[in-house]
Amino acid sequence: MFESLSDRLGGVFDRLRGRGSLTEADVRAAMREVRVALLEADVALPVAREFVDKATEQAIGQQVLRSVTPGQQVVKIVNDALVAMLGGDGDGSAAELDLGVTPPAVIMMVGLQGSGKTTTTAKIARRLSGGQGGRERKKVLMASLDVNRPNAQEQLATLGTQTEVATLPIVAGQQPVDIARRALQAAKLQGYDVLMLDTAGRLHVDQALMDEMRAVADVARPAEILLVVDALTGQDAVNVATSFSQQVPLTGVVLTRMDGDARGGAALSMRAVTGKPIKFAGTGEKMDALEAFHPSRVAGRILGMGDVVSLVERAAETIQQEDAEKIAARLAKGQFDLNDLRAQLQQMRKMGGLGALAGMLPGLKKAQSAVQQVGGDKVLIHMDAMIGSMTEKERAKPELLNAKRKIRVAKGSGTTVQDVNKLLKMHQEMAGAMKKIRKMGGLKGMAAMFG
Ligand code: GDP
Repeated sequence: MFESLSDRLGGVFDRLRGRGSLTEADVRAAMREVRVALLEADVALPVAREFVDKATEQAIGQQVLRSVTPGQQVVKIVNDALVAMLGGDGDGSAAELDLGVTPPAVIMMVGLQGSGKTTTTAKIARRLSGGQGGRERKKVLMASLDVNRPNAQEQLATLGTQTEVATLPIVAGQQPVDIARRALQAAKLQGYDVLMLDTAGRLHVDQALMDEMRAVADVARPAEILLVVDALTGQDAVNVATSFSQQVPLTGVVLTRMDGDARGGAALSMRAVTGKPIKFAGTGEKMDALEAFHPSRVAGRILGMGDVVSLVERAAETIQQEDAEKIAARLAKGQFDLNDLRAQLQQMRKMGGLGALAGMLPGLKKAQSAVQQVGGDKVLIHMDAMIGSMTEKERAKPELLNAKRKIRVAKGSGTTVQDVNKLLKMHQEMAGAMKKIRKMGGLKGMAAMFG
């Protein structure tokens, strides 16, 4: 899975990474190749287009970090775009099942015949029940609502025995909605935590199937409705997912046959076409062949450039660190002018909290609580504007700011002379704190003091 896509992208990036500089045209050409690679991997056209547009815009707008090459930076941007495409919310970790608060939580499985629905029902049940090494220990009941396919209900019962998960006794001739009702009642009466409903599939999407899904959902009020799709069916899987998501309120997708040699397009398109995360990947016929779907890991596998991605992440961190160290070096010499204050204020704003040094310096802690008291971010913006309205000389030597100059600064920054005075007082207090620190033997002495 993903192999040929991985090879294609690898080729594009190998060519980029060797280069010392990249023009906009280079980036655009590379992204065109990325687009072709995605389409060849069976990614849906609109999904591929949006992906490439976003990544291109980012790559062109991006300032290149010191200590990485532009090509490396582009790899990182494409990696992040892949994670987003696969449905990573923020950290790229797997989306969990949401089982609600009042048991029994109903998990309804939907999908076409042969997609792996019954197998996946039993795999998830096993995982939740802790049977055969599953992680959680929930009391799970499974019920098959498939009255179309001969022996479907027996197939689930067999898997239940195999996985040591209870199944609802079969009543011949009962219809899906009635089975769902009976299953729900049994689950309530017998204190089950989770009820898994394996619904009937069809060979194709048809209206009768959709109506049946909706009727069952009305009765069972599922916490999760998981669509099972076969990754090997590629573009068809995408079409199936689109139809289902338009008619049934899905909460997630399970992609089966990820162990096969699918080109991967289904996996890559699924989030975009359904708006729902892939929660699990089926990776084989055995009952333990089910994995949580981690977008960041999958992206890593596709690009095969985990080292480059972490290099760029580290470089970004290092630069913050270097900026902090530069200020620290000045402080150690007892220098703390309004430029230094401004740099710290900007860092506070960027990081939404204390600047990198603030944890170490009592003066900065004071500044921050002062800022919070008077209203947070807005104040930081005002302070930045005031310092911005000063001349370079005034910033280096705040004592130059007499009454006349203060009026000019206040006017220039849309603040008042009072505000300017507050800023200067804060700077003075901080500079004083820095001097004390220096007397104690600089940052080293302070570090010793704070242990
Ligand atoms: P249903 O008709 O949707 O209920 O499909 P089944 O659960 O009966 O699965 C159909 C076939 O696909 C069975 O032979 C399963 O063992 C197989 N199968 C299901 N999931 C996977 C998977 O993730 N990988 C592989 N290789 N086979 C799978």
